[in-house]
Amino acid sequence: MDLKKLEVWFVTGSQHLYGEETLQQVAAHSQTIAKALDQAKQIPVKVVFRPTVKSPEEIYHTCVEANNNSNCIGIIAWMHTFSPAKMWIGGLRILQKPLLHLHTQFNRDIPWNEIDMDFMNLNQSAHGDREFGFIMSRMRLERKVVTGHWQDPDTLDRINAWARAAAGWHDWQGAKFVRFGDNMRQVAVTEGDKVEAELKFGYSVNTYGVGDLVATIGAITDKAVDDLVKEYEDQYKLAESLRKGKPQHASLREAAKIELGLKAFLEQGNFKGFTDTFEDLHGMVQLPGIASQRLMAAGYGFGGEGDWKTSALVRAMKTMGSGLPGGNSFMEDYTYHFEPGNNLVLGAHMLEICESIADGPISCEIHPLGIGGKADPVRLVFNSAAGPAINASIIDMGNRFRLLVNEVQAVAPAHPLPKLPVARVLWKPYPDMKTGCSAWILAGGAHHTCYSQNLTAEHLRDFADMAGIELALIGKDTELYRFRNELRWNEAYYQLKK
Ligand code: MN
Repeated sequence: MDLKKLEVWFVTGSQHLYGEETLQQVAAHSQTIAKALDQAKQIPVKVVFRPTVKSPEEIYHTCVEANNNSNCIGIIAWMHTFSPAKMWIGGLRILQKPLLHLHTQFNRDIPWNEIDMDFMNLNQSAHGDREFGFIMSRMRLERKVVTGHWQDPDTLDRINAWARAAAGWHDWQGAKFVRFGDNMRQVAVTEGDKVEAELKFGYSVNTYGVGDLVATIGAITDKAVDDLVKEYEDQYKLAESLRKGKPQHASLREAAKIELGLKAFLEQGNFKGFTDTFEDLHGMVQLPGIASQRLMAAGYGFGGEGDWKTSALVRAMKTMGSGLPGGNSFMEDYTYHFEPGNNLVLGAHMLEICESIADGPISCEIHPLGIGGKADPVRLVFNSAAGPAINASIIDMGNRFRLLVNEVQAVAPAHPLPKLPVARVLWKPYPDMKTGCSAWILAGGAHHTCYSQNLTAEHLRDFADMAGIELALIGKDTELYRFRNELRWNEAYYQLKK
C-alpha cells in the first residue's frame, strides 16, 4: 500500500486583527513547516499546505472540504498567532477526519538580543494553542496533541505514528470484509455486534455461503494453477512429497487453486479481508492454509473461525505498517513455557500465520489437521525474528469495543522444533509473564490477535482515539492492581460518555 497517495492537511489558525503584513508572515511560515513535514522521511503521507483560516466561515469551509476530500485522512492544526476559538466551534462540530494539534513554534529559540513586541505578536503559539486546546477539550473532542519544535525528530516521530493510524482509519471507512461461513460454534469472543461495528468503525461485514467460494475456486484454470505452483516452487523450500510426480503433488495444486479462487472472490467483491471456519468447508477439499498466509502477505485481513474483528484489525494494522520493516499477522496465543526465569508464549495457529513476519527459510509442507475432517492442508512453516512487538485484540464488551494491546519481546527459538508443522513465534509479554497474562485475561482479551513487529502502542492509542473506543495497554509499567482499577473506571467512563 502506497501511503504517499494519502494527504494530511496543514491548517494554521489566525484572525484578521493582526493586519496583512503579519498574516503574510504567518502564511509563509506555515508553508515552510508544511513543506518540511511533507519532505520529512519519517512522515509517510503527503502534507498539504492550506491557506490560513481567519474566520468562522473559512474554518467551517476547510472542515467541509476535508470531510469531502477522499484523499484527506486528517488535519494538522497549529495556531501560530491567537485564533479566538469560538470561531472554531462550527468547523470542529462537523469535522469527521482525525485531528492532530501540533503545538509548535516557528522559531526554535528566543532571539535574546532582538526580541521585541513584534516578535512576540507573531510567535504566540504558546498561548494561541492553549486557546485552541480549550475549545477541543470543552467540546470533548478526541485529538492527538504533539508538543515540540517542528524540526525535532521526536516531533516528526509522533506525527508519523498519528499519520499511520489515520491511514489505517481511512482504510476502514467503507471497507468490506467477507465471512465464509459463520462463527465457530459456541465460541464467544469472536462474536460481536456487526451493526455497532459498522456504526463505530465504518466497515461492513457480510457472510457468503462457502458454496459461492467453491464455485469461484472451481472456475480456476489449470494454467493459472501451473503458474502459481511454479511460484511456490521458486519461493519456498518445497517438501519432497509435494513435488511434481510425488504422491501429494495433487494436494499442492489443490491448495494453489484455493488461493486463486479466494483471491478472485476478494477482488470481485472488492473485499479487504476475510474469515473462514474449519466447521464450514462444504465442498472445499482443504482448509485454506497457504492461501490465507499468502493473501495476508498481500495485504488482506484474515481471521480464523469467523473472527471478523481480528480480520479487520489485521487489515488496519497492515495499512498502518506499510513500508516499515517487519510484518503484521493474525496470531493466537497457543502454548506456554513455564520454565522458572524463562517464561514464554508460543504463538501460532492451526495454519494461518503471515509470512511477512518470517525470519529465515520458509518451507512449504503438508500435514494432517486434527479437526475439520478435510484433506491434509498445505501450509508455510517458518520461524519469526527476535525483537520488540505487540499483540492487539478488539473485543466487544456489550456496551463498547475495547482495544487491548500487550507489548511483548519476541525471542529467537532456542530449539529447532522439528515436529511442529506450523509457523511459530516465541515471546515474553511485558511487564512479565504472570502480570501480562493475568492483565490480558482480566481485560477479556481474545486468544486471537494481530501480532505486529513494526507498530507500537502509540499507533494503536492514536487509532483507538480516532475510533472513539477504549484502549487498554499492558506494557512495561503495568501493575495489576492499577490496571484492574483502570478497567473499572473505564466501565463507568464509557457509560457516562454515551
Ligand atoms: Mn483460532
